[in-house]
Amino acid sequence: MERSLKYMIAACLFVTLQVQGGDDPYAKARQRMLAAIQATVIDTRGETGREALAPRVMEAMGKVPRHEFVPDELDAVAYANRPLPVGHGQTISQPYIVALMTDLLDIDEDAVVLEIGTGSGYQAAVLGALVNRVYTMEIIEPLADSAKERLARLGYGNVEVKFADGYYGWPEKGPFDAIIVTAAANHIPPPLVEQLKPGGRLVVPVGERFAVQHLLLVHKLDEQRVQIRQILPVRFVPLTGGHG
Ligand code: SAH
Repeated sequence: MERSLKYMIAACLFVTLQVQGGDDPYAKARQRMLAAIQATVIDTRGETGREALAPRVMEAMGKVPRHEFVPDELDAVAYANRPLPVGHGQTISQPYIVALMTDLLDIDEDAVVLEIGTGSGYQAAVLGALVNRVYTMEIIEPLADSAKERLARLGYGNVEVKFADGYYGWPEKGPFDAIIVTAAANHIPPPLVEQLKPGGRLVVPVGERFAVQHLLLVHKLDEQRVQIRQILPVRFVPLTGGHG
């Protein structure tokens, strides 16, 4: 009797562990992704001045299910440290770039953040795991619609998606603690600097199409002054829209 009880307890434990382990088949891939991000952070420390990213940024990267944001056929490589296509000629950035840009925003949990270029919604989800409220804008309607549906399904209730040209920002929801642009502009969009709070940060890739672009960190010191730092050469899809 006692023996069979022990057996039952052992069997229950085994089943529980199996269920926990089987709960998230992507957990290991996500851990490997974090290690790859850290390795690239070290490789680029000369340019970025960073030996490591904020632990809470890495924690958010370790939580968001990236495989939910890529097409089904790319499931197996969802956590590779490289960009992936998300349809409509657009791409989801390399995890290292997502993590670095998020880190550069220097945001705390009370922050309100604007993203331009929702794409799959992955970057918005990473931000949503970190801050109070995220507003994200996308110029391709089907991408905006599918990101909206996906973010709601995955429980990111603090992320709001809008189908519109993000060059002009979202003044009704601003001013923002931080703004991130995930498409390359050929200049820093003045409306976005306008919609930043004093002390806020804007991270934006700037450069011509098919040429080297630079990731810029724009720190709005006060209403009159900004400080601009060039962080890293990057390659993004272009910011489109009617701003010429
Ligand atoms: N952040 C996304 C990837 C961005 S790809 C993710 O995590 O998946 C760049 C996106 O910017 C594309 O979806 C593109 O359609 C969008 N985009 C380009 N110009 C835009 C504009 N003016 N306003 C809003 N979105 C724009």
